[in-house]
Amino acid sequence: MHDLGAHVSCAGGVDKAPLNAAAIGGRAFALFTRNQRQWTARPLTAAEIAAFRANCRAQGYTPAQILAHDSYLINLGHPEKEGLAKSRTAFVEEMRRCQELGIALYNFHPGSHLRAMTEDACLKRIAESVDIALAETEGVVAVVENTAGQGSNLGFRFEQLARLIERIRHADRVGVCLDTAHTFAAGYDLRTPEAFSATLAEFGRIVGFGYLRAMHLNDSKADFASHVDRHAPIGKGKIGVEAFRLIMNDKRFAGIPLILETPESERWAEEIAFLDGLVKKKASRR
Ligand SMILES: [Zn+2]
Ligand SMILES: [Zn+2]
Repeated sequence: MHDLGAHVSCAGGVDKAPLNAAAIGGRAFALFTRNQRQWTARPLTAAEIAAFRANCRAQGYTPAQILAHDSYLINLGHPEKEGLAKSRTAFVEEMRRCQELGIALYNFHPGSHLRAMTEDACLKRIAESVDIALAETEGVVAVVENTAGQGSNLGFRFEQLARLIERIRHADRVGVCLDTAHTFAAGYDLRTPEAFSATLAEFGRIVGFGYLRAMHLNDSKADFASHVDRHAPIGKGKIGVEAFRLIMNDKRFAGIPLILETPESERWAEEIAFLDGLVKKKASRR
């Protein structure tokens, strides 16, 4: 059984996340470790940290099944001094929160050049930002998420992810999270078994499955290769069910968090059960 879950709410404190995850039958979960739309947050208290760890233990979540997500304001490749400094400070702070909470995987969006610098200079800057945070923390893997390539967001081509990883000095603490909706909107087809295996083979060749540490399972409201980032419930978008059936029956996606970021949170329990139901039963022997 793959480690399915959803990006759950932390309303009322981070310690609520493992409880919310368990309530929908998640065997993994994702969370923001602080308000994702503000620059600053008060530090976590010892009591909050202890409560989070205790709830994870009680619900049976190991560090490999928990994926923190970075705040939306952070741009690790920001072309301007002030924006870059603020982003780097927030990124280090969030990675530290992960360390305190015992979370091993910290998922982030690479960054945007805002049409003010070249793609290559921006990737170099992102790599420097990640290295700063990795040098100041321990035990947390920086997991870069592929993007749809909306606006000037980088990380929509596998080559960009590979170039970024290549430039990060602490390569043993870098991973990749593939978001199915972003992959599809970026122009990598997943809709048929042939397209799915061609896309994954390309990922394997250019980035490498050794780096794959998490997946976001989302259908896409946006069209193929549209570079528009709009998630849809599983089976209700332009990708369709087949891609998810293939994921659920593919060993390369076992043992990593597979996280729903689909728009209707009240359907997550149903979506998890539906995805589990796509696993092919082994023929019984007599
Ligand atoms: Zn994301
Ligand atoms: Zn995502």
